[in-house]
Amino acid sequence: LDRSLRCPYCGARFSVREETAIAVCPYCGTALWPANGKEVNEHYIYEDQLGLRGAQNAVKEEARRLYSAPEDLGEIMTARSGFLHYVPLHLYHVRVKAGCPHSEAAILEEEYKTVLASKFPRLNIPESYTFPVRGWREFQPKILERGMYYHVGTRPEALKSRASERARRRVALHASSICEEPRVEDETHWDGIIHYPFWEINYNYKGRLYKGLVDAAGGDVVYIEYPTIEGRHSLLGLSTGVLISGLLLGGSVGVFIGQPLAGALGGLTATLPLAYPLARNRKRSTRIYMINPGSSSEAPTGVEAKG
Ligand SMILES: [Zn+2]
Repeated sequence: LDRSLRCPYCGARFSVREETAIAVCPYCGTALWPANGKEVNEHYIYEDQLGLRGAQNAVKEEARRLYSAPEDLGEIMTARSGFLHYVPLHLYHVRVKAGCPHSEAAILEEEYKTVLASKFPRLNIPESYTFPVRGWREFQPKILERGMYYHVGTRPEALKSRASERARRRVALHASSICEEPRVEDETHWDGIIHYPFWEINYNYKGRLYKGLVDAAGGDVVYIEYPTIEGRHSLLGLSTGVLISGLLLGGSVGVFIGQPLAGALGGLTATLPLAYPLARNRKRSTRIYMINPGSSSEAPTGVEAKG
């Protein structure tokens, strides 16, 4: 059963499925709770840093570096259309504690974690894609020229334990060096949603159309379709993903004796992420993402990474 909603910001009517967790106006991005139509306050965004032209250039540049593609690919390819996809992420404040029965010692870990909040099989965003954990801003509705905001398909509670999974394991491991049966408490909570931009770029090479996907906040090319040198099939060339130092607090695993929480709390308030400019000087490293062949109309056969 579909539910019809009216955007309080731009007035557009749009419908959402009954099971949609958070409805999002596709035109201006305003997020609403479907149950009562109230606006979601905990709404953030990573701005598109590239624009259409910048995304096209990124694809072109990446094409020049592909080893198994024709040498002239980057030179004679012509960029055609582009579309900006704002996909939703759930943002979690992960906070996990472990303590021992007869000890004052406690282990605490805190970090922000983002998880893709809907499925986008057609976009081919790799499942293991690492989104940045700083640099988002307060969301402001804005009508997109050529782009779309997407609904949140998965409820906040559903992905919470996945967000804190690694922290729980790390904390338990640390505590197990102090006592045999540490008590692990997971105080992770949902902090909101973040809309994250990807440019989908179409380009023409010798009369055929190919596709590329660019991380519009980080600038990296997620993948490019390209013809092989033999010209038999189009392949999905895959470039590096973005790997941003994963923990906001830099892996804040520590043992705090006596006052277990004070140190970590101080660190957290000092590094609240809202005011950060986009992390341009972040750490980069190569990570190869495999695209699930079942989710693409063209089966990916080639994978290539840049250094
Ligand atoms: Zn709207």
